[in-house]
Amino acid sequence: MFQRSFIFSPLPSRVVFGAGSLGNLLAEFNQLRVARALVICTPEQTHLANSVANKLGNKCSGVYPGAQMHVPIEVARHARAHARETGADCIVAVGGGSTIGLGKAIALESSIPILAIPTTYAGSEMTPIYGLTENGAKKTGRDIRVLPRTVIYDPELTLSLPARMSATSGINAIAHCVEALYAADASPVTSMMAEEGIRYLARGLPRVARCLEDIDARAQCLYGAWLAGTVLATTSVALHHKLCHTLGGMLNLPHAETHTIVLPHATAYNASSTPQAMDRICSALERSNAAQGLFDLAAQLGVPMSLEALGVQYTDLDRVTEAALAAPYPNPRPLDRDAVRALLEDAYWGRRPDDCPPEMNAP
Ligand code: NAD
Repeated sequence: MFQRSFIFSPLPSRVVFGAGSLGNLLAEFNQLRVARALVICTPEQTHLANSVANKLGNKCSGVYPGAQMHVPIEVARHARAHARETGADCIVAVGGGSTIGLGKAIALESSIPILAIPTTYAGSEMTPIYGLTENGAKKTGRDIRVLPRTVIYDPELTLSLPARMSATSGINAIAHCVEALYAADASPVTSMMAEEGIRYLARGLPRVARCLEDIDARAQCLYGAWLAGTVLATTSVALHHKLCHTLGGMLNLPHAETHTIVLPHATAYNASSTPQAMDRICSALERSNAAQGLFDLAAQLGVPMSLEALGVQYTDLDRVTEAALAAPYPNPRPLDRDAVRALLEDAYWGRRPDDCPPEMNAP
């Protein structure tokens, strides 16, 4: 059935894609009509950030290698002050979601533009979503000022992404696509992008696992990641993202690994309520069962498949269930406490979703 009425509101960003596209940096910087960039990165990516700073020459006000996971407010305050003191009127963020998140924290206060150079598949560079962590709690919001103005996707910069991070970051991107397919505010355009995002990531990730330096496979994955970030920006997330945010916030679990473990189970939970979305996931994966296809893809990549393996205690499952249900995101299948608890139990043990429709298994 064609979805006849919808709203599609694309966001204004410029995307430059291709192996070697980092070579366009200066030209892209000049297009922004700014004068001095502060290049930001994590400590681990200082070498790459220095080479980016060299390409900018005297247009660079310095390198700030202080980005940290989850953007602690103290880090954001320090980076904001540093950007002011060095007279930067642009942020060049080189790295994954943590670095781009720090760029967003600076832009949120100063409104200066971000030029993002992503090196993972997280997708933050395409979204107006920011997050800041204060007193152990991560608060997120949306603000168009934090949407990077220009994004340079150069697959060569992802060649160094380690195997486990490549796999889990890629499945994190697939999770954005899966939830976009059944979002209440989906449109034919976002669904097309989401299906294509899954297709490219599912083809590219196994090749990357076999050879980290397969530039063609890296380009496929980065293309899928761009599509995933785009649909994350323009549609709403549901139970899967809620569970991951709850698990990550309460138990301080690694972001991409948590997404990888939960996704097949959240998909199984929603399968009976979202047959069209499941059809599109199956088509993209070339499989007949969406949840099993996602599970098998992750298992094939050799990443942790259970919450137990991430160090979650069995006794945590009840309080995670309560917290996830206390402030739920809208979800296609109504949230039932016992069924959500059963979903978490399956994720805890890393069970492969079974063939029965989930409502047959729910107590
Ligand atoms: P990350 O940015 O935390 O990076 C993890 C580690 O990998 C870091 O040490 C980083 O330096 C290193 N790294 C990154 N790219 C590399 C490369 N090519 N080669 C070698 N090492 C590399 O991880 P992430 O998964 O990209 O980002 C996760 C964060 O992003 C989470 O905090 C999440 O909430 C956020 N996020 C935000 C949005 C949004 O729209 N706001 C979307 C997705 C994720």
